[in-house]
Amino acid sequence: MSYKRILLKISGEQLSGRYEGGIDAELGSWLADEIKTVQNSGIEVVIMVGGGNFARGAQLAGHGIKRVTADQIGMLGTMMNALALNDIFEYRGLQSRCLSNIFAEQVAEPFVHRLAEKHLAQQRVVIVAGGIGRPYLTTDTAAVSLALELSCDVVLKATKFDGVFDQDPATNPKAIRLPHVSGDEAVRNPSIRVMDKAALGLALEHNLPIIVFDALNSGSILAAANGRHTGTLISS
Ligand code: UDP
Repeated sequence: MSYKRILLKISGEQLSGRYEGGIDAELGSWLADEIKTVQNSGIEVVIMVGGGNFARGAQLAGHGIKRVTADQIGMLGTMMNALALNDIFEYRGLQSRCLSNIFAEQVAEPFVHRLAEKHLAQQRVVIVAGGIGRPYLTTDTAAVSLALELSCDVVLKATKFDGVFDQDPATNPKAIRLPHVSGDEAVRNPSIRVMDKAALGLALEHNLPIIVFDALNSGSILAAANGRHTGTLISS
């Protein structure tokens, strides 16, 4: 089973690759080639990028920095990632457009629903910058909202570990991967922290499946886009 249109959520931390922060452009090039295989197989690709490699609002707020301002700084971080990815993609021969959910006409086209549809119809990858453009949210929630808005069939949530585990795989090597988690369980179980609850709740409410997987394995994005993932499917 192959999805027709996917939303790939990549965090800022993943984009920083070998580095402590910032962008690992070599990894971006690798990602471009991986996504090209998905695009070439006729699957439309929308990308929501995080910004945690630059700033996360909840961590930055304080000492006078208001939460709203901190979140705006976080959103600008996502913009930097989106702009870099867009250039890397085009350099690697993958047609793409960066659409921004914050007003930044000098650097990117604004996110407009019809414009996004037009780019997708023209076989371009759509990279969305600025999350959803409002504070007190993360790019996980923005990813689910965007996937609904653009009628994506699935959210592919890229994570360090390949799926959701019964225990924290970072601290427990015996943690067992769960191939399927119900949307209800994902929302209710406090130990499932792979995405924020707002994102999981929104997906559950609208029957949108989420695949949690390790996107940095060769061929894994294409496999997930074809429903052949090795991670965890969160669905009702
Ligand atoms: N952010 C926001 N509204 C959004 C998306 C993001 O305010 O719609 C801010 C928020 O401060 C967040 C930061 O941008 O912490 C970076 O996004 P996120 O933490 O989701 O990045 P990731 O952890 O995926 O790299």
